[in-house]
Amino acid sequence: MEVTPNHTQTVSGWAATDESGKVAPFIFKRRENGVDDVTIKVEYCGMCHTDLHFVNNDWGITMYPVVPGHEITGVVTKVGTNVSTFKAGDRVGVGCISGSCLDCEHCARSEENYCDKVTLTYNGVFWDGSVTYGGYSGMFVANKRFLVRIPDSLPLDAAAPLLCAGITVYSPMKQHGMLDQRGAGRRLGVVGLGGLGHVAVKFGKAFGLRVTVISTSPAKEREARENLMADDFVLSTDQKQMQAMARSLDYVIDTVSASHSLGPILELLKVNGKLVLVAAPDKPVELPSFPLIFGKRTVSGSMTGGMKETQEMMDLCGEHGITCDIELVFTDRINDALARLARNDVRYRFVLDIGGSNARL
Ligand SMILES: [Zn+2]
Ligand SMILES: [Zn+2]
Repeated sequence: MEVTPNHTQTVSGWAATDESGKVAPFIFKRRENGVDDVTIKVEYCGMCHTDLHFVNNDWGITMYPVVPGHEITGVVTKVGTNVSTFKAGDRVGVGCISGSCLDCEHCARSEENYCDKVTLTYNGVFWDGSVTYGGYSGMFVANKRFLVRIPDSLPLDAAAPLLCAGITVYSPMKQHGMLDQRGAGRRLGVVGLGGLGHVAVKFGKAFGLRVTVISTSPAKEREARENLMADDFVLSTDQKQMQAMARSLDYVIDTVSASHSLGPILELLKVNGKLVLVAAPDKPVELPSFPLIFGKRTVSGSMTGGMKETQEMMDLCGEHGITCDIELVFTDRINDALARLARNDVRYRFVLDIGGSNARL
């Protein structure tokens, strides 16, 4: 049980207490709603692959008990005295980060995600020294800086994964000019059609890019073309198809977290093309130098986004009607969903119904 002095609010949630891969009901404390804080009744929380990694302690950094969840949406119930931008009843969300130093060059540019002292929404250590607990819970206390407004046009369930999957692909797409006039009509390849990939396809199409899905699974072709309106599909295991696409793409977003070589993917890029890695394979990726130097190509990485950018993404999703394709999960089925997530058996994101109209909390 949390012992930090200002942690006085009792919350019900779900936590993993060991490496069994399962969560169980868990009662814990959250901090009082401070002057800069906003308290949220959690309605929905997306289930990200990262949750599974923390539940299983795949990266060896889990602090049990861990309450996962960093794709949180809900409604404001209380605001602190320094908060003028949010009021009770507002529809809001919290993503991967919940705190940062607010004082460094990154924070000054609203790149809080790159602050040395960034606090993750769960399994992080907050300013007061307490361990953070995520959104698999009925209530959340957020600092106003780390809160996102959800446009009225977006449903709170299908908008939840935008707070992680959405911003993770949006941030590099914006940074590399894919979403402005430099990007229109240009060609984007999306490697992997999962939670991240399907949103990247939606952004690409919404902003006038020509989108090619690159996958190892032939079954994804119909899905990519018919449901996500991708322009092209390439089976990455088929040499002929890959060769036919050589030097055709301006950008590639690689969302695959399984070990793979970047060589064949780099060959798809035009001269000066850019490849962005947004997933995190646990082994180093293979990066052969020939396709890199013969095409003057760039490989870069990106990790979620800053708060200003996250709000901007959410507003654009509101304008364009972009949401994630989700499967709603009741809280008595979380462990089934975690097991299916481990098998990649989801289209494309599970979202927990925690306090929504049909919730079973
Ligand atoms: Zn995530
Ligand atoms: Zn900072």
